Amino acid sequence: MSILSPEQQAIKQAAKEFVAKYIIPNAVTYDKTGEFHPFLLEASRESKIFAMAVPKEYGGLDYDALTQALVLEEWGYGCAGMGTTLAASILSMDSVMVAGNDDQKRRYFTPMINAEIGAFGLTEPGAGSDAGAGKTTAVKTGDEYILNGTKCWITNGGFASEFVIYALTDPAAGMKGISAFIVERGLPGFTIGQADHKLGIRSSSTVELFLKDVHVPAANLLGKEGEGMKIAMKTLDMARPAIAALSVGLAQRALDECVKMVQARFTGKNYPGQTLSFKLADMQIQVDAARLSLHNAMRLRDAGVPYSKESAISKTFCSDVAMQVTSQAVTLMGSAGYASELGKFMRDSKIMQIYEGTNQIQRLVISRAVLTPAPAMAAAQKAGK
Ligand SMILES: Cc1cc2nc3c(=O)[nH]c(=O)nc-3n(C[C@H](O)[C@H](O)[C@H](O)COP(=O)(O)OP(=O)(O)OC[C@H]3O[C@@H](n4cnc5c(N)ncnc54)[C@H](O)[C@@H]3O)c2cc1C
Repeated sequence: MSILSPEQQAIKQAAKEFVAKYIIPNAVTYDKTGEFHPFLLEASRESKIFAMAVPKEYGGLDYDALTQALVLEEWGYGCAGMGTTLAASILSMDSVMVAGNDDQKRRYFTPMINAEIGAFGLTEPGAGSDAGAGKTTAVKTGDEYILNGTKCWITNGGFASEFVIYALTDPAAGMKGISAFIVERGLPGFTIGQADHKLGIRSSSTVELFLKDVHVPAANLLGKEGEGMKIAMKTLDMARPAIAALSVGLAQRALDECVKMVQARFTGKNYPGQTLSFKLADMQIQVDAARLSLHNAMRLRDAGVPYSKESAISKTFCSDVAMQVTSQAVTLMGSAGYASELGKFMRDSKIMQIYEGTNQIQRLVISRAVLTPAPAMAAAQKAGK
């Protein structure tokens, strides 16, 4: 029994079929080679799925937040690395959604209808959790900004056609001096580093970005100077549940594959009974609870009410569940599990607890909300604090 609307069920089913056709059969190969998957962008073009978050007026599919999560769960089920490509492109778009004007939205969103991808450049060496410690600068000269600095761990960076880059327009003002810019690929002085070698999500592209005297039109400033940190925080509120959705898909897939292996491995007398079956039951309880926490955050966002705390809860809970369930799946199958695709699911899960704000940072956000009376929290969110 599903409480999804018929339209949501149809979209979820279409995503499931796409994943079965294009993602699942290729996931292990791309995990082994550690290469990016341009074929998937080509395959996605007709469905416009990379524009699922783009509003109708800009030619996108305009899916609500819950429907986006349904699609991302399916992609996470197929391959968390390929799902990360989709999630990170939407992450970069979200900054434009939060602060872009009509012209910026049109320019940024149109390529996504053709399955071009975007990247979100906030992290720098020495500025991960402490995002305000970034050193990249943007100096205004005439009708341009000149950007200098280095970004690291940028998902999609190797293949994105457009980027949202955060840089200091007023270094003396610290966090209040950060601004956000649209930066197009190929600008002189903007170079892309080698792909990073990773434990998991190996098919996604993660790179360093180098900006050396990159001239960016002033028209590419998102919002006003100094609003960058506020834009980044709102963007991450919107985007964190995408990681929750990938995590739920990943955990459900590990459980499903584990059940198949268990049924093939233990037949008749050697079946360990409830020692095993209760573990599988606990795994499903965790996955279902995780999915509910994700849907709760998405329904709040779709209702237009504050959802920062629930966004952080869903990211934290779902990614912790993915780590626990995938690890348990390997444990239950012993060496066969360790050497199977279950091992990939476990490796892919770890990053879910780290990127888009580590789960420790999420717990800071959640604990602040727990310790702050609700009306004060809503007022603080409204004021962008
Ligand atoms: C595969 C991958 C893809 C990524 N994609 C992107 C991307 O597309 N765009 C982007 O901008 N960034 C991206 N990142 C960067 C990622 O978001 C950061 O790595 C992450 O936020 C953590 O920062 P850090 O690695 O510098 O860890 P650190 O900040 O150095 O943290 C190290 C440890 O200390 C803990 N810690 C730090 N501060 C506190 C605190 N105040 N209280 C409690 N604990 C704390 C952390 O939780 C963590 O356990 C990506 C990273 C990876 C690995």
